[in-house]
Amino acid sequence: MNRPNIVVLGAGYGGMITTTRLQKMLGANEANITLVNKHNYHYQTTWLHENAAGTLHQDRTRIKISDVVDTNRVNFVQDTVVSIQPEEKKVKLEDGELDYDYLVIGLGFEAETFGISGLKEHAFSITNINNSRLIREHIDYTFAQYNNQKDEHKEDLNIVVGGAGFTGIEFVGEMANRIPELCEEYDVPRDKVRLINVEAAPTVLPGFDEALVEYAMNLLEGKGVEFKTGTMLKEVREDSILVEKDEQQEVIPTNTVVWAAGVRGNSIVEESGFETMRGRVKVTEDLRVSGYDDVFIVGDCALIINEETDRPYPPTAQIAIQEAVQTAKNLQTLVRGGDKLEGFVPNLQGTVASLGEGKAIGVILDGKKLFGWTASVMKKVIDNRYLLKLGGIGLLLKKGKFNIFTK
Ligand code: FAD
Ligand code: NAD
Repeated sequence: MNRPNIVVLGAGYGGMITTTRLQKMLGANEANITLVNKHNYHYQTTWLHENAAGTLHQDRTRIKISDVVDTNRVNFVQDTVVSIQPEEKKVKLEDGELDYDYLVIGLGFEAETFGISGLKEHAFSITNINNSRLIREHIDYTFAQYNNQKDEHKEDLNIVVGGAGFTGIEFVGEMANRIPELCEEYDVPRDKVRLINVEAAPTVLPGFDEALVEYAMNLLEGKGVEFKTGTMLKEVREDSILVEKDEQQEVIPTNTVVWAAGVRGNSIVEESGFETMRGRVKVTEDLRVSGYDDVFIVGDCALIINEETDRPYPPTAQIAIQEAVQTAKNLQTLVRGGDKLEGFVPNLQGTVASLGEGKAIGVILDGKKLFGWTASVMKKVIDNRYLLKLGGIGLLLKKGKFNIFTK
């Protein structure tokens, strides 16, 4: 093979780290590298809930791809992937086609709707910059509308969040801080606004450390969040939702439903004929697709099993980054004619979830629990480490989060 074509799909955590590593690890005459992404920017999903709540501007979350990828070395194609044809080693784009010798799929996640009626039509989800900006604008508009309703029809302003996993809780935390500001700006009485978090499991953040969950619930309830645990969101209508608890149904009027109740891998992967579970491909030890030795998957489209629990590792940025580092290494080996690839071993560093306004909860490496301000600082440290890894000191200084006292 003469100067192989390496094509990376998606400029998320997985795609960006794979590409920036490859541009350093391979000489220009060793391989052609192409990166394909819908937008000319990379966004950090880990801050999208703040963009959606309106507590952080989207420009703090996104990074111009050409600021970190050397476009003299890497062919950046701004286009949308339509399908992958692994038999022909081709990728179909909206505006063209690409041939590859090695493919890295990093197309990320979508909201999982579980077939719930009305969700696609009437609910929002926090999945990218455009969706997050839409949520922020919609909520602002809803507040602006409040005093323009006819008095006899005036209803409470209910914001419903479906799911109290990490995304749901992080968004609720930001909204709890944003609501008083919105009330003041739009002259809406605070007691007319409800922020309701519906969770099917008996507790919020199911499976997470009990003491940290209790801390989070107390803090958020203190700011007016209503938790409805053990409650399934069953249907979303144009102006209400239907929930069920212990076989009792309740209708809650609302035109703001933010669905944060689970994710799946990008449907393009499944539609391209790869065998998937919730859109994720069970990859081999070295992160390739069984039967397609030239296709690697990194990030939320890849499924790997934790041998200790016999369950899939949750899809996280942390794992996507580590998978990308490993994949770049293995690609270097292949390009240089080697055939002994290293298996991927996740190195879990812990989990930190923000609760808004300089507060968070977390468990780190050795099982140490972090509460409040300390956890919030840790979240910024994790983010800053990522920026350093991605774009060096320049990117860190430009986009880093250094204010440890507030945002
Ligand atoms: P993504 O980051 O989703 O990127 C996919 C890329 O592919 C995007 O650039 C997208 O534009 C592009 N793309 C998609 N479809 C196409 C197409 N058809 N054509 C071209 N380009 C396309 N994980 C953590 O470890 N820590 C956290 O604190 C954390 N916080 C989170 C907070 C929120 C609100 C959410 C929603 C998730 C959070 N996660 C966190 C999970 C984490 O963000 C994901 O696991 C991670 O983003 C997955 O990375 P990825 O590289 O697979 O894909
Ligand atoms: P999740 O799957 O972790 O949580 C979804 C929640 O929604 C669950 O608690 C589930 O019981 C609930 N749910 C499902 N169907 C429901 C229904 N019909 N009605 C009510 N509740 C329902 O999803 P997520 O929070 O979007 O997280 C996705 C991935 O991203 C996870 O791997 C997570 O670890 C990761 N993430 C990490 C962080 C962080 O580390 N700070 C933040 C956000 C997301």
